[in-house]
Amino acid sequence: MISIGPCPVCADAGAVVVVARADAEFLFFACPACGCAWSKPPQVPLVDTVETPSHFAPAGFRLATKDEVLASGFGSLGTDWHAERSHTGFEALKGFVGALQSSD
Ligand SMILES: [Zn+2]
Repeated sequence: MISIGPCPVCADAGAVVVVARADAEFLFFACPACGCAWSKPPQVPLVDTVETPSHFAPAGFRLATKDEVLASGFGSLGTDWHAERSHTGFEALKGFVGALQSSD
């Protein structure tokens, strides 16, 4: 999974992860620890909007792939690339469908 930094809501407990709609080419951001989601990279410590992943992805969401993040331009945000695909913490969140097989 791909993280762009600490979560502005739960701080050290979570990380902002780049995720994608399961049914569309749309990237957004979510924290697996607190279940918050944002349409744009959240600015620590400013939090102006807090939604849930299902708000942005009513049909479900998955982890974004490295290629998607690079293509979106979000890869320049000091992105932390995690190779592991398990234990993302999203499994407990509504709508999470996993990762694409090509995801790294
Ligand atoms: Zn959080």
